[in-house]
Amino acid sequence: MTERIGFIGLGIMGRGMAANILKAGFPLTVWNRTPERTEALAAAGAAVAATPAALAAASDIVITCVSDTPDVQAVILGEDGVLRGAQSGSLVIDMSTISPAVTQEIAAALSARGVAMLDAPVSGGSEGAARGTLSIMVGGAVEALERAMPVLQTMGQRITHVGSTGAGQTVKLVNQVIVVGNCLAMAEGLMLAQAGGVDLEKALEAVSGGAAGSWMLSNRGPQILARDWRPGFTIDLQQKDLRLVLEAADAVGTPVPGTALVFQLYRTLEARGLGGDGNHALIKALEALAGFEVAG
Ligand code: NAP
Repeated sequence: MTERIGFIGLGIMGRGMAANILKAGFPLTVWNRTPERTEALAAAGAAVAATPAALAAASDIVITCVSDTPDVQAVILGEDGVLRGAQSGSLVIDMSTISPAVTQEIAAALSARGVAMLDAPVSGGSEGAARGTLSIMVGGAVEALERAMPVLQTMGQRITHVGSTGAGQTVKLVNQVIVVGNCLAMAEGLMLAQAGGVDLEKALEAVSGGAAGSWMLSNRGPQILARDWRPGFTIDLQQKDLRLVLEAADAVGTPVPGTALVFQLYRTLEARGLGGDGNHALIKALEALAGFEVAG
């Protein structure tokens, strides 16, 4: 039997992910807080629910991809939330990046009503969401993952079971430590290229193919040279993740000095009203310190 899928949160990530589920032939119902954002999917054949509870009542598997921990709590546990409408035996998959500890609390509340939950945060950016090539890190029971696999495969290429409930979110935080380290290294490298007077495009091309190559460099390096700050991932959401990293690292006593530095650099950009820029705008913090700009 084909599972009926419900998708909550049609932002930069969710709209591409939901479109890929629909394209793969799953019956799809969507809900978004700002209703206009459901229009493109409705035109492509998705049903639109009036509330998360109504969406859950019409779905076997409910997927959430909203911003932050309180937002997932609101759409699942809140008034008219998923928990109100979900049938016993259904499955919730949260693909947002949120607190691992709160994930366990939400899973317990769902479990008390006979609803299983997976935490399945993603990496791969808006490009990966649109192309269905995300990397998905999954926490939760093996049986739930086996059930979820066909729908996860419409959104992602690498799907890794990393442990029990909350483990997916912990691994996503590991991912974010590495992402922001890459972003800072890219920004410093491009500042040096600018100051050294070399051709920036050629410098980027040369280093992308070697040991310095990374997703960040290939996807966001050209955007920096074009001074295109449109977000694949906003600074505001990046800071949300870094706060989760700093809390989690503090809880286990792990030093993360590089991440702490990047958090403070992003703070200077938020103070300048740039929280809606893409996370690659980190270079603007270095430009302000150095007194010159990188110009492609
Ligand atoms: P986004 O474009 O800002 O979209 C956020 C979505 O969440 C929107 O649909 C928004 O609804 C909804 N939302 C927020 N708060 C809500 C609330 N209280 N109740 C109901 N709906 C709410 O963000 P995004 O980039 O798609 O990110 C979504 C999640 O994926 C985040 O957890 C993010 O960390 C994670 N993620 C993002 C990327 C990336 O590159 N962008 C990569 C990996 C993971 P409205 O339309 O009404 O605002």
